[in-house]
Amino acid sequence: MASPFSRSALRGHGKAFWAGLLRASGMLALVRKWVKRRGAIVLTFHRVLTDSELQQTASLGGMIVRDRTFAAFLNHASHHYEFANLVQEPDWKSAGKLKLAVTFDDGWSDNAETVYPIASQYHVPFVIFIVPEKTGTALPFWPERTAAALDRISSGHGSRRAASIGRAIEALKALPTMERESRISQMLGSGGLLESSATVDKTMTWEQIADLHARGVTFGSHTSTHEILTTVPIAQAEQEIVSSRKAIQQKLGGSCHLFSYPNGNCSEQVRELVAQAGYKFAFLDQEPGVWTRDCDPFLIPRVNVCEYHLVDSDGNFSPTIFDYAVVWSAAKGLLLQMLSNRLKKLKRGTETSGKTWEPTEKKSMGKSS
Ligand SMILES: [Zn+2]
Repeated sequence: MASPFSRSALRGHGKAFWAGLLRASGMLALVRKWVKRRGAIVLTFHRVLTDSELQQTASLGGMIVRDRTFAAFLNHASHHYEFANLVQEPDWKSAGKLKLAVTFDDGWSDNAETVYPIASQYHVPFVIFIVPEKTGTALPFWPERTAAALDRISSGHGSRRAASIGRAIEALKALPTMERESRISQMLGSGGLLESSATVDKTMTWEQIADLHARGVTFGSHTSTHEILTTVPIAQAEQEIVSSRKAIQQKLGGSCHLFSYPNGNCSEQVRELVAQAGYKFAFLDQEPGVWTRDCDPFLIPRVNVCEYHLVDSDGNFSPTIFDYAVVWSAAKGLLLQMLSNRLKKLKRGTETSGKTWEPTEKKSMGKSS
């Protein structure tokens, strides 16, 4: 496989420039304080890979952090941030350091082999959202199978090639399952899957999961098979939400309180199903934001973190880049959350005051909230 990190150097330098400017002007520090007073930032990771695994994986760059970057980040964060344990709701009152919560989606085997040893060295609690019917499987999810297939057949190099593979995967996400699977099998042809990727791109077995659970790692559900819940019939979505929770509880004992939506996709109906299934908190992963006390417990925003959000243009961990790519983005999201809450309150206030809205006014309020 080509290296998943092939974003253009120009883009990297541009980001470093803005991040440096915001730090020098004091804006980054100010924003960190502002976020700290309001809530916690929940980070979404997927995979942490060694250099040799990076050469073999079919996962896209947006899902990967290098092992040395992850270690340098946790070392820095354990001094400058406070880690929240998602077993409980964050303590909103404490005003010490800015709170971060670490979560991993999908249940990749590197979470047991690489993440756990590093996280336990820095005493960082974390949650892994697993997919019960895809445990102990090589190439468990279709995006890796697609990337492996496209990598063999697509032309172009570097960032263009990675971008075109990324676009193809985004387009496939919108298709019904059957149609998507048939297109992927066409792409794969009769040659089968890439073996090098299959050795690296596998999920944890139940034995690995039980072992980590016994060592204090928290597990949540990421559905039974990782279907995007807004693209399947609602009865299937319910099955994915309910049976995954049951399976985790049966295998690990105790209650499974946490849920994360595959690809971060949620609708009002899907949210309702998650709430009814007995989960306490459910996490999104689309728009960055901050978990505040005003958040809907079933629509908690997270910030996706990959290598690009952590390193400077030389590939070394940079606290300034983290502040810019993660804390700054979360703060922008928080601003939108606050605005939207404000609008909702205004709307509720106007509705209860008994005033009759003109249809045009109603429409514009609905859109912005
Ligand atoms: Zn996922």
